[in-house]
Amino acid sequence: MPTYQNRKCKLCANQIKEVDYKNLGLLQKYITKYMKIVPRYYSGTCIKHQKRLASAIKRARIVALMPFVR
Ligand SMILES: [Zn+2]
Repeated sequence: MPTYQNRKCKLCANQIKEVDYKNLGLLQKYITKYMKIVPRYYSGTCIKHQKRLASAIKRARIVALMPFVR
């Protein structure tokens, strides 16, 4: 899990505009070991990308690509 030192939004840095709910490799970086969405103050993600990530993760959960809890 990222630390407080990572303040830059990694999605902005890598110029990722759309977050796909099928891109599990990316989504898994923004999930804790109990499958919760990592909060913004931890990951340093910007508002726009955090919102996109949250929707993508929720969508992935509904289509059963990702568990709700562990
Ligand atoms: Zn961003």
